[in-house]
Amino acid sequence: MIQRLILFISLIFFFLSSAEAQDFRMYILLGYPGSGKGTFAEALKERGYKHLSTGDILREEVKKKTAIGLRYKNEIDSSSRLLPQEVIRTVVFNQLQELIEKKEKLILDGFPKTVEQAKYLDHLIESCSLGQSVRVVYIDVPLNVAFKRIEARRSCGKCGKIYNLLAAKPKITGKCDICNASLIQRACDNAESFHKRILLFNETVKHVLTYYESKKNLIKINSNKSIKDFINQANVLDETHDNI
Ligand SMILES: [Zn+2]
Repeated sequence: MIQRLILFISLIFFFLSSAEAQDFRMYILLGYPGSGKGTFAEALKERGYKHLSTGDILREEVKKKTAIGLRYKNEIDSSSRLLPQEVIRTVVFNQLQELIEKKEKLILDGFPKTVEQAKYLDHLIESCSLGQSVRVVYIDVPLNVAFKRIEARRSCGKCGKIYNLLAAKPKITGKCDICNASLIQRACDNAESFHKRILLFNETVKHVLTYYESKKNLIKINSNKSIKDFINQANVLDETHDNI
């Protein structure tokens, strides 16, 4: 009788833990600035994913006033160069490890940026036996389209909401729909900075794409289409996640 009870309880634990593992999913979004990573991530957020960028993680450290947060607060939006290795090792991976262990559904935006980071991330995921739940998505767009989008990008100076004067305009010109604060053009959203970011992408993330391609874990999504069709691809991808 006791043996049966033990068997029954172990079976319940087995099913509970495997159900939990199935809940975990992660999308790694890679693409040029202006490729549409943010829009794609928004669509996945609607489906219960937590959106994580290295900038967000560092902002959290600044808020908590940690030594590393204060030391690197000026690096947060420096998208034309790589974050220092110290930040990646001690902050980004620590937070990622916690979230992976909690089996949160995650979107990584623009990370990993080097093959070394990709390998370490693989190691983290595989140590939790969750490798099957990760999809790497390359959002493909012609360079001239990406640049037009970047030039038209505005963000709210107060809440950070992103607008696009071509495709996602605010209701009142120059004002945030949510908090009515003035919209600004970020210093890095200009031609000079765009070209620097593309150079950096070609020197770094291109190798990450080759790495995932060689592991047969790279899905290409074309973002040069209507927002509705583009967003629909995020929904289809997530609905067929387990069949890919
Ligand atoms: Zn706002």
